[in-house]
Amino acid sequence: KTKLEQGALKVLQKLTQQGFQAYLVGGCVRDQQLRRAVKDYDIATSAHPAQVVELFERTIPTGLQHGTVSVIMDGNLYEVTTFRKEADYEQFRRPAEVEFIDSLEEDLKRRDFTMNAMALDAAGMLIDPFGGLADLAQGSLRCVGNASERFTEDALRMLRCIRFSSEYELQIEGGTWQALCKHASLLKHIALERVRMELERMIAGANPLKAIGLLAASGMLLEAKQPLRLAQLDRLRTAEPINQLKAPTERWSFLYIAMGMNASETEADMRSLTFSKAQIKAVCAVVAAAYKLVDAAADVDLLNRVNRHELSLEHELEPIWKRTVLRYGKEALQLLGKVLAVDPKVLEHLSLPSQVVSLFIQHGEAWLNELEIDRLEQLRVDGKQLLTHIHHAPGPWLAEVLQFLLHEVALGRLSNETDALIAEAVMFVENSKSSE
Ligand code: ATP
Ligand code: MG
Repeated sequence: KTKLEQGALKVLQKLTQQGFQAYLVGGCVRDQQLRRAVKDYDIATSAHPAQVVELFERTIPTGLQHGTVSVIMDGNLYEVTTFRKEADYEQFRRPAEVEFIDSLEEDLKRRDFTMNAMALDAAGMLIDPFGGLADLAQGSLRCVGNASERFTEDALRMLRCIRFSSEYELQIEGGTWQALCKHASLLKHIALERVRMELERMIAGANPLKAIGLLAASGMLLEAKQPLRLAQLDRLRTAEPINQLKAPTERWSFLYIAMGMNASETEADMRSLTFSKAQIKAVCAVVAAAYKLVDAAADVDLLNRVNRHELSLEHELEPIWKRTVLRYGKEALQLLGKVLAVDPKVLEHLSLPSQVVSLFIQHGEAWLNELEIDRLEQLRVDGKQLLTHIHHAPGPWLAEVLQFLLHEVALGRLSNETDALIAEAVMFVENSKSSE
């Protein structure tokens, strides 16, 4: 038994010694039955929150109005929640007010899926009034009781349903799936932040491909609170390659690129979904880099010239790739390289020829490694130093000069020494003045 589990059992024992009922419930019971690693142990009890607070030395009043107290036992945190009933559901979300009750079975009844409605007592006996274990054995995901009622009470359960189905390789039971499709439009009642949190878990999970298939089949995302470009899943030529990508940023970048979204469309969508600034920045850099490559390749009319044997494709593509690295960062290009490698046709809608893509895949990583430096921070001069030698008011010109220096040093045309950099910068500014 893990330390985490031992602590949970101690909490159960302490409660039962005082004459309260206490059980492990929810995800931990499900995962234990499946022999999966348990992330956290949740406990349900007949004790009221005040009694729980009284009984344990260290507690945190996590959600008293929901009946939840966090108990710290041997350094681990356990959520202890009083048996409760959720009488009035408001706005298709779970209610703010709950009613405390004495019956474990009543408490299990309000839960979403049969596999999540099982409990274990301190002696290890399973309480499973809705047949969760049999459903798991059959690989079936089923709502507790009437599926239509469950989804109408709380529309978030529809997303949880798809997440659990894809994460646990479970088939959604027929009646549950029918109810989900019937009530898909209730998704508009769910805050986009909650929608995003579920989507994030699906996309980061074991089988995002399956989740995407179910989302598309249900049409659910088309019913979100605000229109989402991500809802247009029918624009995906194929989502197949997504499972071969590992990091969530790679997977999200693949999705937006494969749906034909440019960086500003991607950004707007991710903002609606309340992604963090850092996540938006990382994904948009990959998308923007993809578009930049396409533009740059089109600009120089590459293929025609290659076909006329005026140049070698490889030699033309190398500086394009490197310039894009210096503009959007090494990280973004590495991620893009992975996306292209699993789906060389992902930029087909932008008519980037597959010849070009395969050269990027083949050489991209090596080209990256050839760069002397790839970030402004690596230049042995900064804006402040330049200003002491070039007596202009700071302005956009400064970033331009730095970008120019980065480019020259990265490509090995200028050495990364402070004096040389300053001299080059002075010349650059004078040249651009005289050309004005
Ligand atoms: P995981 O933590 O891996 O997402 P979990 O099943 O533990 O899975 P939690 O969100 O931690 O999910 O919820 C704990 C338990 O609370 C669930 O197992 C389920 O019994 C119940 N539950 C959670 N959310 C809902 C909901 N929206 N409707 C009904 N019951 C829910
Ligand atoms: Mg949990």
